[in-house]
Amino acid sequence: MKTVVILGAGYGGMRAVKRLAHAKTAVRLVLVNQNPYHYESTQLHQVAVGTKEPEDITFDIRKAVPKGVEVIIDRVISVDQDSKTVNLSRSGSLGYDYLINALGFESETFGIKGAEENGLPLVDLDTALAARRHLEGTLEGYRQTKDENDLHIVVCGAGFTSIEYLGELVHRMPSLVSRYGLPADKIKIDCVEASGKILPMFSQDLVQWAVTYLEKRGVVFHVSTPITEVRPGIVMSNDQEFTANTIIWTTGVRGSHVIADSGYNEKRNRVIVQKDLSVEGHPEEFLVGDISAVPDPQTGRPYPTTGQISVAEADTAAANVLARLAGKEPRAFAFKSVGTVCSLGPHAGVAEIDKLGKWKLKGSIVGVLKKIVNDRSVFELSDLRTMLESN
Ligand SMILES: Cc1cc2nc3c(=O)[nH]c(=O)nc-3n(C[C@H](O)[C@H](O)[C@H](O)COP(=O)(O)OP(=O)(O)OC[C@H]3O[C@@H](n4cnc5c(N)ncnc54)[C@H](O)[C@@H]3O)c2cc1C
Repeated sequence: MKTVVILGAGYGGMRAVKRLAHAKTAVRLVLVNQNPYHYESTQLHQVAVGTKEPEDITFDIRKAVPKGVEVIIDRVISVDQDSKTVNLSRSGSLGYDYLINALGFESETFGIKGAEENGLPLVDLDTALAARRHLEGTLEGYRQTKDENDLHIVVCGAGFTSIEYLGELVHRMPSLVSRYGLPADKIKIDCVEASGKILPMFSQDLVQWAVTYLEKRGVVFHVSTPITEVRPGIVMSNDQEFTANTIIWTTGVRGSHVIADSGYNEKRNRVIVQKDLSVEGHPEEFLVGDISAVPDPQTGRPYPTTGQISVAEADTAAANVLARLAGKEPRAFAFKSVGTVCSLGPHAGVAEIDKLGKWKLKGSIVGVLKKIVNDRSVFELSDLRTMLESN
């Protein structure tokens, strides 16, 4: 019996497993993930701010995968494409006939000095929890230290993750102020962005609405302000310094380091894949999600990395593994975005929806929409019994 190995139980990996298992083809399906749980990475900012608990955004992989799927909880060290084996931290090597690699993203520092040591990234459950502990510990500490930098927060970057974090933060701040007895007028939240753009994927009118919403709640934006160095408690730009004892580093992502460690032809740990999502010269191997770079035929530039694309790619990769198993030709990946929803806390946001016409939405309706998207995501990734258990 052929072995199909799926790496990563994020959006791409979970979806691929579900698609392959439901096809009921006689194969051995093995899912490898470093944790026994799946986390909804699109909600990490809520754990980082403290509006959600880890259990609200995680589910047990073993309970969620269809019956018959083998689950290995271990860390992938590298992939050996020639011998078709995956090297695992504890379990040794795992051979495959077909591979779907969906190992996801890591924080990108762009080589900026001190960013890794002094910035708090939001890339998984551990980093989100670390950011939350740091934020709350620092705010609480102010009562003793009276150091105003304990009340200052700098968010680095003004892309999707940064803006969602800021929206959640300004929503929670009044309750943190009251819990720790803080002087509200001394809280300072800066957002520092190298480019001239905030939320580059949205139309200007929606961006302006989001910026005004956040500014009214105390966020100060500094665009065209490239960060040159991060020191403990200081974010430095060419001629400016922002002092804060909480520095959130959400400037962008790169793919998993396993890609570079395995010797792929990569850029920022992302590989330009073939039309069917396979790796050049390796028709048995498919890359899905944030480690893949798929050129958008409209622009020629790779699609942005999103959970939505990961799921769509997983559908194609799973279909192509099944096609190869059946001796058929694989199909080309085609993507049509259904839109983008950016939350600003639980009750507001901006969205551009491309379904039954083009829709631009803002305000409280987007809060409702985001909840529907999040609930649906769990449904689409896991088997129904998980949904029933979590309700
Ligand atoms: C705060 C935030 C908000 C976001 N909001 C949205 C949104 O609203 N909509 C949207 O479409 N996208 C959003 N994104 C982007 C989206 O989360 C990612 O594009 C998506 O998670 C990528 O999916 P993936 O399947 O490639 O990998 P991931 O979801 O990153 O999953 C990778 C999996 O592999 C595991 N893994 C990693 N390395 C190893 C290893 N060495 N060994 C074993 N296992 C490993 C991880 O633990 C994880 O389970 C957001 C991201 C963030 C951070």
